[in-house]
Amino acid sequence: MSIPVLMYHHILPKEGFITSSIENFEKQMKYLHENGYKTLTSDEFYRFKKGEFEAPKKSVFITFDDGWRDNIIYAYPVLKKYNLKATIFLVTEWIDKASEKKEEFTPLKHNTCKKIVQTDPAKVVMNWNEVEKCKDIFDYHSHTATHRDFYYEKLSWQEDLALSCKTIKQRLGIEEKHLCWPRGSYDDKLVKLAQDVGYEILYTIKRGVNKPDNNLTHIKRISMKKDDKWLRKNILIFSNNILGSLYAKIKSI
Ligand SMILES: [Zn+2]
Repeated sequence: MSIPVLMYHHILPKEGFITSSIENFEKQMKYLHENGYKTLTSDEFYRFKKGEFEAPKKSVFITFDDGWRDNIIYAYPVLKKYNLKATIFLVTEWIDKASEKKEEFTPLKHNTCKKIVQTDPAKVVMNWNEVEKCKDIFDYHSHTATHRDFYYEKLSWQEDLALSCKTIKQRLGIEEKHLCWPRGSYDDKLVKLAQDVGYEILYTIKRGVNKPDNNLTHIKRISMKKDDKWLRKNILIFSNNILGSLYAKIKSI
């Protein structure tokens, strides 16, 4: 058995680069709800990987990267409506900066968000109040402190990983174990470094299967696109160890 880990970034009125439309996201969540899927919390997924949690056959793990504010505005109400859970990987320094002042939300596409996050993050990135308010649906983990983009300060990898861990401990009161690599880029040295800092479970952007094999360092995720039919197909493939391993070798479906 394998648990498909779904990877989203933005949910916006219109579909685009690493962006699902609200309409398609709603169709996908409705599909999960109507077909009896359990959406695991990050802790349940972690324990499943370690062989300590018996996940129902129909389980998925939903993740969002970066902490874009549209997740709170558009994804949260849909998840709540269908009684589903998800995890957001936060770029903790962006959230800190976004919490310094109040701004109106405007839906903007990814490239524009990446520009605005450098000068006016409160517009496009969620703040700590919003993080707190949506804890009934989302749990939150590390996507580093800086996303290795250095808009505000330059940090070594060691400083970056340690700072994110510390911020999450202060803000959310947890000993951080989960780390999602920015842009999915890492090597063996970084894996070792992350483990030394205290991270145990590391998320990639590679497709594939996630078995309860206690191998926590290369979690596979499926970059989400399109609608409920596309989701259904991908869940069928990546719940199956053999099919999932085969499809992981093919570039795109
Ligand atoms: Zn990212």
